[in-house]
Amino acid sequence: MKSVLVYCEVENQKVADISQELLSAGKRLAQKLDCSLEAMIFGKELKNIENQIAPYGVDKLFVGDDTRLEPYRTLPHAALATEVLKKEDPQIVLFGATSVGRDLAPRIASAVNCGLTADCTVLDIGDHFVKKEKKEYKNLLYAIRPAFGGSIMANIINWDMHPQMATVREGVMKKEIFDKNYVTEVVNIDVNKIIKEEDFVVKIIERHIEESDVNIKDAPIIVAGGYGVGSKENFQLLQDLADLLGGEVGGSRAAVDAGFIDHDRQIGQTGTTVRPKLYIAAGISGAIQHTAGMQDSSLIISINNDAEAPINKLADYVINGDLAEVIPKMIKFYKKNAK
Ligand code: FAD
Repeated sequence: MKSVLVYCEVENQKVADISQELLSAGKRLAQKLDCSLEAMIFGKELKNIENQIAPYGVDKLFVGDDTRLEPYRTLPHAALATEVLKKEDPQIVLFGATSVGRDLAPRIASAVNCGLTADCTVLDIGDHFVKKEKKEYKNLLYAIRPAFGGSIMANIINWDMHPQMATVREGVMKKEIFDKNYVTEVVNIDVNKIIKEEDFVVKIIERHIEESDVNIKDAPIIVAGGYGVGSKENFQLLQDLADLLGGEVGGSRAAVDAGFIDHDRQIGQTGTTVRPKLYIAAGISGAIQHTAGMQDSSLIISINNDAEAPINKLADYVINGDLAEVIPKMIKFYKKNAK
């Protein structure tokens, strides 16, 4: 069986979270296929970078180390990744659905003439019977993602081309160290042999990195509000509760679209995927695009004036009532009882 190969993103000697998540997902697929997990990483000053990658159970790591490879530029990375794909001929290749992965993956899919499924939320292995050919194909990648506005989960299978490639959004897959002492074979790529001067035709003149103090992805407690909160001012109530509990405020897309809350706090399919210990959903109906981003929370409390709201089916506790009355009571009760 051929390998599973993951493209790792790196900046300032730190492997990106999304790449660590993909390595974990890649290992699970490789175990199902009983094949090796491989990775490729291109950047600068990558000495000992394998220490961050090997623990995910990576058997072979291709390293392209050259000052010109960081920050990311399309052409040199595409040239190196394509070369690795041609040499290794993997069965599955995974990229992050980040600005880098979204730029790079289609270019490589085109270079090696195969398909690409974008923004997967689940990856699995299975068989597929092709009626026309009366033939069953074994051990294929099931690239699963919401489609038609989230009304269905589509299982996208590519049986006649390989590699099978997919991008996965950040936060969707769980990071899992496989073995902290795992040993990987490091293959140093002779970068100058592969990339040409014209691959650097795009020059980076200036980079501006916007620092954000919003970190809903790692917050242990999230108080999220939806369209039912009613206004930007009413969100202060949610902020008060979040401050009291030591959590962050998040929101649904409807709340973002209505201008109640900033986009960097949106949770769901087109926002951030979160897994807090406690998720309080206030005035959120529970559309699939929202629940896709919070359904793995350890404990979910729904506050909704509609007893039939779909989110209530997912919630561990449901408080049926007007959030404008319920939240002040929660704050009062917490202040009274917490030491
Ligand atoms: P609504 O569906 O309007 O629900 C409001 C809820 O508040 C209702 O359940 C109501 O009973 C309750 N309510 C009203 N007043 C009160 C009150 N006073 N007290 C208590 N409860 C009250 N959505 C996301 O959230 N995240 C995404 O990432 C996302 N991505 C999308 C991607 C695509 C391609 C598409 C098509 C849609 C996407 N959506 C996303 C939108 C999604 O389909 C829903 O429209 C959205 O989640 C609804 O937000 P909501 O629950 O806040 O609003």
